[in-house]
Amino acid sequence: MLPDDALEAASALLRRARYVVALTGAGISTGSGIPDFRSPRSGLWERHDPAEVASIYGFRHNPARFYNWIRPLARTILEAEPNPAHFALARMERRGLLRSIITQNIDLLHSRAGSQTVHEVHGHLRTVTCIHCFREYDCRPYLVALLETGAVPSCPACGNALKPNVILFGEQLPARALSAARRDAARCDVMLVVGSSLEVYPAADLPAFAHRNGAKLIFVNLMETALDSLAQVVIHGDAVDVLPHLADALGGDSE
Ligand code: NAD
Repeated sequence: MLPDDALEAASALLRRARYVVALTGAGISTGSGIPDFRSPRSGLWERHDPAEVASIYGFRHNPARFYNWIRPLARTILEAEPNPAHFALARMERRGLLRSIITQNIDLLHSRAGSQTVHEVHGHLRTVTCIHCFREYDCRPYLVALLETGAVPSCPACGNALKPNVILFGEQLPARALSAARRDAARCDVMLVVGSSLEVYPAADLPAFAHRNGAKLIFVNLMETALDSLAQVVIHGDAVDVLPHLADALGGDSE
């Protein structure tokens, strides 16, 4: 399908839908300067193996190594601003055209763009929790200190390591966010999947789950994914260009 035809087909599906849910991945935030995991050259995966360094076992064994790995990502996330793709989804929600966003991202950019219903299935960098006494704190001051001095965040109450509330390999996904995501994936009649390689489970199962429940799928991604054949519409393009275009075509208000 030619890009213009694909955009028109996507707009038509969204216009007719009664319950639209978006599933987003790291690709929606590359336009904000945050590298994804798997894009060639820029992907974080290319330089490290997050399955090793970003596992809960790795963290418990050596929090300093984890913080050393996440430091550049934390810096870009702290400095990043939402981009037009985040704003387009927020605009669609305000206009009643989008029920929720299920995001694999930890960068808080959907909330900062004004989206209200965001299911953060891989956690977030909003808070940190002590791995020993489970006290919770605001994440930002600890990240700022990490960037400024290299200090590994430690619990003011008991001195043990503080872990950002992001889901590491080997950890359970947050039950409430995951069940809300599954509920919306079951209910939706259109799922708009943006900037995800669909390689990280169980989030990557949600489009197929929605499809089995009768939903139509629209994919917006720079590269092919293994699930492209399930989608009614596949747009291989930059989310920063495509999503504002879709929101405009649906009649969203302007920013
Ligand atoms: P991924 O890195 O596996 O895949 C990103 C996909 O987005 C790729 O297929 C790429 O082609 C596409 N993409 C990149 N830039 C794009 C753009 N401008 N427009 C459209 N598509 C674009 O990401 P994933 O599927 O989300 O899985 C990786 C895991 O990494 C997730 O668990 C996520 O939590 C984590 N992660 C999050 C962030 C973040 O919070 N911003 C950043 C890196 C990794």
